[in-house]
Amino acid sequence: MHTDLVAALDIGGTKIAGALVDGHGSILVRAQRATPARKDGDTVMRAVEEVLGDLMASPLWGRVTALGIGSAGPVDASTGTVSPVNVPGWRGYPLVERARAVVGGLPVRLIGDGVAIAAAEHWQGAARGHDNALCMVVSTGVGGGLILGGHLHPGPTGNAGHIGHISVDLEGDPCPCGSRGCVERIASGPNIARRALADGWRPGPDGDTSAAAVAAAVRAGDPVALASFERAARALAAGIAATATLVEIDIAVIGGGVGKAGDVLFSPLRKALADYATLSFVRRLTVVPALTGTDAGLVGAAAAVLKARMDATAGV
Ligand SMILES: [Zn+2]
Repeated sequence: MHTDLVAALDIGGTKIAGALVDGHGSILVRAQRATPARKDGDTVMRAVEEVLGDLMASPLWGRVTALGIGSAGPVDASTGTVSPVNVPGWRGYPLVERARAVVGGLPVRLIGDGVAIAAAEHWQGAARGHDNALCMVVSTGVGGGLILGGHLHPGPTGNAGHIGHISVDLEGDPCPCGSRGCVERIASGPNIARRALADGWRPGPDGDTSAAAVAAAVRAGDPVALASFERAARALAAGIAATATLVEIDIAVIGGGVGKAGDVLFSPLRKALADYATLSFVRRLTVVPALTGTDAGLVGAAAAVLKARMDATAGV
């Protein structure tokens, strides 16, 4: 893709990961700090500066031509600011300006973490070779990003494809985002477990009430656990079908912890998709597990800067 290197940051509520990435998507240098998520904004920024400092100490730093940042959202790429829900000290925080000052004025590109996952899956994962794809993360929350016409589509603020907060249940439960019946409110790991518990599912002797434990109960034949996964699958299917109808994607890729439930999620999801994706132009839509792993955020942030430069060179 390019012989130069790019630096990448993946900023979440738990950790701040950094890497130097080459044009093949290989990670050559890594750095990481815990996110001091409950501290003030400048303290969080100091952790980012330490990660960048570690990367800049590498002898390879001289080959770095740009910095890509994927951050928990919401982000605003148009202003270079971030307001991650799980980092209260950052509200409209000028992350791009601060990061650019640290890296000596290199070009910096900011995208949301869901968009970064889409970039990674398109470059290295299950969406490779697909020009129109929705890539999702279903875990503690539900996020996503879009590939349209062969290119990453972050939208003006870097949040396009945020499928977790489209409503699929008009009279549904209030969502922390302010809306109700959002995909995330039904299909995230904690909400799958919450629903199962409310309907009478009880965890095993280990007390594990995670979505993974609910998935294990489904495999053991528990009908209440199954009903909660089927409901989550319907919410995801409705959101995916709506996306396909709007912008004609031909593949939906699902990663994250809940995506790892395998057939427990994908069997009811494919069935529900047949119910909701009914028009001729969306019937061929397939849904598959993600292939990129824990480095997806870093690889995606790198892809976003590498591809942007390639597109610029190609005059796209
Ligand atoms: Zn919501």
